[in-house]
Parts: sequence; structure tokens; C-alpha cells
Amino acid sequence: MEPAGAQTFNAPFPEGNPVLAGNPELTLCPPLARVHNRDMDSMSAQQRSQLMSKIKGKNTKPELLVRKLLHAAGYRYRLQGNIPRSTFEKILKDHPDAHLPGGKLPGRPDLVFSARHKVVFVNGCFWHLHDCPAGQHAPQTNAEFWEAKRTATRDRDLRSIVVLEDLGWQSLVLWECELRDQEVVLDRLSRFLGASAGSTAAPSKSV
Ligand SMILES: [Zn+2]
Repeated sequence: MEPAGAQTFNAPFPEGNPVLAGNPELTLCPPLARVHNRDMDSMSAQQRSQLMSKIKGKNTKPELLVRKLLHAAGYRYRLQGNIPRSTFEKILKDHPDAHLPGGKLPGRPDLVFSARHKVVFVNGCFWHLHDCPAGQHAPQTNAEFWEAKRTATRDRDLRSIVVLEDLGWQSLVLWECELRDQEVVLDRLSRFLGASAGSTAAPSKSV
């Protein structure tokens, strides 16, 4: 019998899986099922290439792209800082002063891997003031407004990561400009996260 925690971790999204909802082709694609339980690191170049060809979709919005990659590779996650009730209670027990507005993680990370205590932020370069040409581009109109807004966003991002770290959660930031090579992105994600959910190397217990 599966530990209760594992069921929590693998539980479907109560509101329906957002990736599958927007991408019906993923549910109709048997080859993907075979790679769900694999550690991406153990995939052959050919398997990886086949997986990538299944993932390429029309919608390349950065966050959706990352969600598709992760889902196809067998990872399960929650969105926008959502955590299971049990995780919420555990954090407050260990860190009574923790501030978790709305029962969510600080900074509402785009993707939450609660059993692993890891989160991924997918940041647009302009809005989050990345140190790249797109991020450093300064609009001529309303320059002061944009400068203040984007600086505040960047500072809030940095604070969130520090707070999360204090709570024992690791963060990975993926920038929009880094998503062009999907294989590289998937490599980074799998190195950061470890094996996907179905693998024997995955955590057997969710807290
Ligand atoms: Zn960038």
C-alpha cells in the first residue's frame, strides 16, 4: 500500500490538471506514459529527442512551456505557491513566525514540489528585471514608473527566495531568455529536482 503522503503528492489537481486541460494531445499520447516514471538523466538521446518532439507545442509562454516539460517527464507539482494542508501545518510548527499569506508559500512560486521542499520560479526577463538585454531594456515612456515597478518586483523576488531558504525550501529561477533550448532546461530542472515522482529514487514520503 502506498504511504498516505505519496498519495497526497501524486493527487490530481482538484481543479483539474492545468497542463492537460490546455493540451489535450498530452493525454492522447501513449509514448509519454512510458517516460513518466523515468529519471530524465537515465534517458537515451533518442528517448529524450522523442520526448521533446512530443512536447513542442504552439503555446510557448514561458511558464506553460516549463509546466509541459515537467509534466511530460513525470513530475507532479502545484501552482502559484499552493501547498498541501499538511505541509502548511508542518511549516508553521517548525517556524511559528512564518508568514504564509493565504496558506501559500512566500512569493507564490510558479511551481511547487512540496514533497521535495523545492520551488521553481519562471521569470519574464522584462518584468523581473533580468540582467540580460531584454531585461535591461528600459522603456522611454513612463521611465520612472517602470524602473520603480520592476525594481520592486526584483527585490521582492530576492526576498522571497531568502525567506523560502530560511523555511528550508530551495528555489530555482528560470529566466525567459534561458528557455530557448528545451533540453538544457529539462536537464537543469531534473538536476535541481532529482528523479521524477514514479522513480524508485523519488521521496517515498510527503510532508
Ligand atoms: Zn533574460
